[in-house]
Amino acid sequence: MAERVIPLVDQRLTALRAPVPAQAVAPTGHVTDQLGRPLRDLRISVTDRCNFRCSYCMPKEVFDKDYTYLPHAALLSFEEITRLARLFLAHGVRKIRLTGGEPLLRKNIEILIGQLAGLRTLAGTPPEITLTTNGSLLARKARALREAGLQRVTVSLDGLDDAVFRGMNDVDFPVAEVLAGIEAAQAAGLAPVKVNMVVKRGTNEHEILPMARHFRGTGIVLRFIEYMDVGATNGWRMDEVLPSAEVRRLIASEFPLVPLDPTVEGETAERWAYADGAGEIGLVSSVTQAFCGDCNRARLSTEGKVYLCLFAGNGYDLRELLRGGASDEDIASAIGAIWQGRADRYSQLRGSLAADTGSGRRRVEMSYIGG
Ligand code: SAM
Ligand code: SF4
Ligand code: SF4
Repeated sequence: MAERVIPLVDQRLTALRAPVPAQAVAPTGHVTDQLGRPLRDLRISVTDRCNFRCSYCMPKEVFDKDYTYLPHAALLSFEEITRLARLFLAHGVRKIRLTGGEPLLRKNIEILIGQLAGLRTLAGTPPEITLTTNGSLLARKARALREAGLQRVTVSLDGLDDAVFRGMNDVDFPVAEVLAGIEAAQAAGLAPVKVNMVVKRGTNEHEILPMARHFRGTGIVLRFIEYMDVGATNGWRMDEVLPSAEVRRLIASEFPLVPLDPTVEGETAERWAYADGAGEIGLVSSVTQAFCGDCNRARLSTEGKVYLCLFAGNGYDLRELLRGGASDEDIASAIGAIWQGRADRYSQLRGSLAADTGSGRRRVEMSYIGG
């Protein structure tokens, strides 16, 4: 078998300037892009480090002991993150998701959450604040996170079988500790807890039904994520993607399902309820069913670049403006102009770009901008 080549192009070294437009784009709480999509959701990566080495995200061969992470001075400070978040809220963001890397590895993350919880939209409403975590530190931190103002968490868990899970996180981390984290999150009121399972054909598809059985009737929403071609290091292959439609058929063979309406605009998961009232599941079909049409998410990297798409090759450097002494008005104007120029819809175009995948196309790593 031919050896898999994993090209590593360091996107951290490249950035687009975030120009302040001559004509100010003042925040009105509603800015739309080239395809008419509003800006509603901001994902903030607070660290590029992680204590797991999930093969689909930070494969060991690349993220090894010689890998150089960002130095602390390159990271946005909590004050810088909060200032940018305030300006994004003024442009219409309503939901903030903290991610990474592993966000709970960022020291004193509760302080950042407290600062973000104090922000308001132009209409005076607080943002919804959530966090995505691998759950490894959650049992210890859930209560403090809740007290700081975090509302919900999403915990990633790819299976209940210990051997399968230890293999997928590739650092031999046990399922039981993640389950303890999920329980602590529920007990702390970080509800409803969502659990994300990335499904890789040939690796953990036999964990789908055990996961469904385990989380039914618990109030926890289990979401199945199609394995995505993010980044350039995971050696992604289409034949390892298990389409969500197959996941749904499998679950429905044991537990009949009924479709639910989306709760919010731009929701990534298709929602299905157990017909017997035992709760719901979500299907995130990023590969087989593009949802770019109403994608309202911006992503802020650990060092302050804003990415307009998970598959973008480049981000716009807001840190340069922050550290160059730009005013709030100028930074807000730059954010508005960047969003107005956005036309990204990678997943919709994936088919026609197929020849491009795997060829080292310059793409940013998921661990750098978060999911
Ligand atoms: N470390 C945290 C965690 O794992 O939850 C937060 C960051 S992680 C990049 C965010 C989400 O992206 C996780 O739910 C993870 O499973 C998902 N993810 C990472 N690589 C992926 C891939 N290639 N395809 C689909 N989902 C992926
Ligand atoms: Fe770490 Fe999350 Fe990526 Fe796994 S998916 S390597 S836990 S950042
Ligand atoms: Fe949004 Fe890009 Fe994903 Fe499409 S591919 S849904 S534009 S992040």
